[in-house]
Amino acid sequence: MEQELIRTEKLKVVGQLAAGFAHEIRNPLTTIRGFLQLVHQSEEISHKRKKHFDIMLKEIDRVNGIISELLNMANPKAAMVKSVVDVAELIKEKEMLYTGEAEANKITFKTIVEPLPLIFSDGQKLDQAIINLIKNSFEAMPDGGVLTIRAREFAASDVIKIDIADTGCGMSEETLDKLGTPFYTTKEMGTGLGMMTTFRIIEEMGGSLSVKSELGKGTTFTITLPLERVDVS
Ligand code: ADP
Ligand code: MG
Repeated sequence: MEQELIRTEKLKVVGQLAAGFAHEIRNPLTTIRGFLQLVHQSEEISHKRKKHFDIMLKEIDRVNGIISELLNMANPKAAMVKSVVDVAELIKEKEMLYTGEAEANKITFKTIVEPLPLIFSDGQKLDQAIINLIKNSFEAMPDGGVLTIRAREFAASDVIKIDIADTGCGMSEETLDKLGTPFYTTKEMGTGLGMMTTFRIIEEMGGSLSVKSELGKGTTFTITLPLERVDVS
């Protein structure tokens, strides 16, 4: 519990900082991108130079992406848009969406979805949280494996539980400890923002995110969401 509190406080501070800096960074970045693109399009530069410009433009877009993620979490409460969400459908959609990528990476992607009640929540944010976890699972299985998403209702405690389990590299004690800390990443090209955003979203929804992981064996994340039922009568 204390751990959770510290994490929430940290996220709040990062959110406020993000709100303050993001716009300030984005404006000059937009100017730089504009001029880079102008030079990129000019006839005078060689094919080889153009490649360098491609890289610069891509890197600027990456920075922009990071800023968007930071802005997203800067004022999340206000941004929550609740409506009727079909969690079962949302998860089955993911299986379709990632079939190609899974196949290309020798990953078996399975979903086990029991009949679920409709809930009142922010579908887009929940989607983002789940996608962040799916992406991490994919990245944890560079040599293939199995990704299983299972969703169930626990009527007695009025919650829905979504397990996202992979047979990937697993996490060390240190990684588990630092999970959700802004910019913490073990990947060469990682941003270290995915888990922070995911923790944040689930917390906003009044839910919780727990994790079990074993090095070399795999990782299971469990999202527990309170059941804000939709009256369909
Ligand atoms: P990023 O993916 O950009 O590194 P994240 O915040 O999404 O940032 O994840 C932070 C770190 O947590 C990752 O770099 C990785 O070390 C670890 N991690 C997250 N999910 C998994 C997973 N399913 N299996 C193994 N490690 C994971
Ligand atoms: Mg990630």
